[in-house]
Amino acid sequence: MRHIARILTAALFVAFTGSAIAAVAVKVGPRKGRILELENQQAEFFIEKDRTISIAFFDAAMKAQPAAAQVVTATAEVPTGKLKLEFEKKGELLVSKTPLPEGDNYTIVVQVKTSAEAKSKNFRVPFNMVICKECGNPEYACTCDH
Ligand SMILES: [Zn+2]
Repeated sequence: MRHIARILTAALFVAFTGSAIAAVAVKVGPRKGRILELENQQAEFFIEKDRTISIAFFDAAMKAQPAAAQVVTATAEVPTGKLKLEFEKKGELLVSKTPLPEGDNYTIVVQVKTSAEAKSKNFRVPFNMVICKECGNPEYACTCDH
């Protein structure tokens, strides 16, 4: 019995801390883009001035890696519907072939596979380009606790 209670406590602890971390701890990369945690690697989600999305890849120790077998798609959930963006290799990065649709304040769902055979991982990024006064990052990559 005591063993089960301990497992339950551990599970609850993970559930609580897990959701707390997801809500506040945004990490940013060298371009001040939002870091997406992948298995054994990390990706930096960055919105360029022309509103295309570019993704840079790093190993677990944040050493830059050229885009290789990763497959990325993004879906902009605009009020009028969902718009899918596809990515292509541009130098070391993966860049969306089309820019984000007009406006902001919508969710971008980013789907990343580390290789064609890998399981995909989804990230929901709240898209807002307003610069946060506290950390100086656009709100989609804000690292503040608010
Ligand atoms: Zn901030």
